Amino acid sequence: MPKKIIKKGKKPHKNKLTSKKWEKYSIEDSKITRQKICPRCGPGIFLAKSKDRLHCGKCHYTEFINKKQEENK
Ligand SMILES: [Zn+2]
Repeated sequence: MPKKIIKKGKKPHKNKLTSKKWEKYSIEDSKITRQKICPRCGPGIFLAKSKDRLHCGKCHYTEFINKKQEENK
């Protein structure tokens, strides 16, 4: 009896959002300004914004955002 091989084929495409890396760049006065990059991974790897911290999905570096300025309002 030959083994039955069930081919599942391609997994259904999950409706994931794109990384939107282009949104991390903005051009001001012919200068490219980048959002916070990971100090460990270097340029190209951006930190994901959370409520009170920045997080690198590659090396799991986390940087906390100080909200002292907002408190002094
Ligand atoms: Zn990193």
